[in-house]
Amino acid sequence: MAHTEPPTPPHSLSDWKVLLPYWRSEDRWKALGLLGSIIGLSFLDVQVAVWFGKWDQTFFDTMFAYRVAACIALLPIYILMTSLSAGMRVIQQYMTQVLSMRWRLWNTRVYLRKYLSDDAYYHLEHGQNRADNPDQRIADDLAQMTVWTLRLGLEAIQAVTTFLSFAVVLWTIGGTLSFVWHGWHIVIPGYMFFGTTISILLVSFVLEKAGGPLVSANYRQQHYDADLRATLLDVRRNAEQIAFYGGEAAEHFRLSECLNRIAKNWRGVMTYTWRANTVVELYTGGVNIVLWALLVPKLLAHALTFGLYSRINSAFMNVRRSLQWFIENYTDLATLRSILQRLGEFERVVVSLPAGGIVRTPTDADGIEIKALALDRSDGSRIADIGSLHIPAGERWFISGPSGAGKSTMLRALAGLWTQGTGHISFNMRDAMFLPQRSYVPAGSLLQALSYPATPDRYARDACEEALLAANLAVLMPDLENEAAWGDVLSPGEQQRLAFARVFLARPSTLFLDEATSALDEKNEADLYARLLERLPHITLISVAHHAALKAFHGQEMILREKSVTVQRLL
Ligand code: ADP
Repeated sequence: MAHTEPPTPPHSLSDWKVLLPYWRSEDRWKALGLLGSIIGLSFLDVQVAVWFGKWDQTFFDTMFAYRVAACIALLPIYILMTSLSAGMRVIQQYMTQVLSMRWRLWNTRVYLRKYLSDDAYYHLEHGQNRADNPDQRIADDLAQMTVWTLRLGLEAIQAVTTFLSFAVVLWTIGGTLSFVWHGWHIVIPGYMFFGTTISILLVSFVLEKAGGPLVSANYRQQHYDADLRATLLDVRRNAEQIAFYGGEAAEHFRLSECLNRIAKNWRGVMTYTWRANTVVELYTGGVNIVLWALLVPKLLAHALTFGLYSRINSAFMNVRRSLQWFIENYTDLATLRSILQRLGEFERVVVSLPAGGIVRTPTDADGIEIKALALDRSDGSRIADIGSLHIPAGERWFISGPSGAGKSTMLRALAGLWTQGTGHISFNMRDAMFLPQRSYVPAGSLLQALSYPATPDRYARDACEEALLAANLAVLMPDLENEAAWGDVLSPGEQQRLAFARVFLARPSTLFLDEATSALDEKNEADLYARLLERLPHITLISVAHHAALKAFHGQEMILREKSVTVQRLL
């Protein structure tokens, strides 16, 4: 795994577009209904909080007038307000979870469809435009995107509503400050509102200066953490090879490097955090002094009751909390932005696939038609000039040539996985099958692995047993129902025989083999080819192979060299 330098936090506005499609989907009315209700509830909640402030004033003024009976009479309103507020919050959270789940499921289904269409999953790994860790993007980023967007979005709306509602309260009850200064009569309406807002904005500015770089340090931290995870995963996946090599020291070195990067960046995170914390702590301690300073004119005018103090205090704290929300969640907004950037990149890569000039046309006609085929690398350099070929139905071609000549790439082009180059390919693609050197063996029951790519209910049990027998895998018959990671359990040779058993079941009319028997001994290899021709005597067969003994099963040989292609009759 290559260590890359982390990108800087993204600033592209277009990444926000990733949020939109769900709101235009068939689920949009339900989604908008839920969102509307959630926002409505959060407005109501703020209004109850304003009502609470007013009640506070009445309650404390009544209390300090020692009117016990009137105080008790105010309690039912208190119970009503708290129940309303609690009920609304519980319902709001529940609805948010429902919306978040619906959004995530919808998005994940769409992404899975895109990922598994047009060989996008293959091109993302091997193509020119790659996007790393598509698994992380589909599984984690989509889940986090909905949760974070809803949490941050709703909190932002709540913060704005709270700010506006309590700003009005502060403005109204705070009154006007008027005084004479150097002969000037100065009048400041809503001075409490201005005092609060200005002091908080001032602190925000200082906070940004002291802890601002924390955002990018946190962003880098995520990248380095992911590096460590990926390196550990590498060790896990290649445990056997590493153990054979005795590569513990080299792995330890790689992992220590990851850890060193984490440690170095972590020091930056700590520095910016303690600086930001100092400002926040000083401010939290000193904020009462700001409030008291703002109350001085009221005290001097003997216009402050305990009830009024309590109400101003609550309005002041609410305005402060709502303004501070934007400062405190600056980091989270940056995290959300990086999630959106990763998803946006995934979409762009998926949409821009594939980029090459090799055209494939499916046809019902038998045989394979190749016209002026040239295979290029992604940098434009030529791998092989295949030219034009007609392979009639039922012919068997043996493809040979030195390593690196482009044999596998030609098969990839035939399968539609390699599009860089020029030319035209057409054959009956519906009825064709490709066997690579390493066949994919999914975990699950052996029946599932055998039926792949069809579902396990496709073939009768007898047919499956018979296919195993024909592929010299009779020992596996009792295991058909057993679940295991068959890709790890079976040896490479057994996996290649299993792939042939699949061919016996699927009975394709055209078969492409890319060193599909390379792990087998000569007898097993010859057995498989003989059984294949016995069972499917009319098959069109294209085999890329190195073992000259296999030529006996073919009628033509195509030799691919760096600058030339020769076709000669065998037999
Ligand atoms: P062969 O099967 O004849 O041994 P390949 O078809 O595997 O050869 O490779 C032919 C050439 O194509 C090689 O030079 C190799 O570097 C290049 N090539 C194959 N796959 C890729 C890839 N995914 N990206 C870039 N180059 C590739």
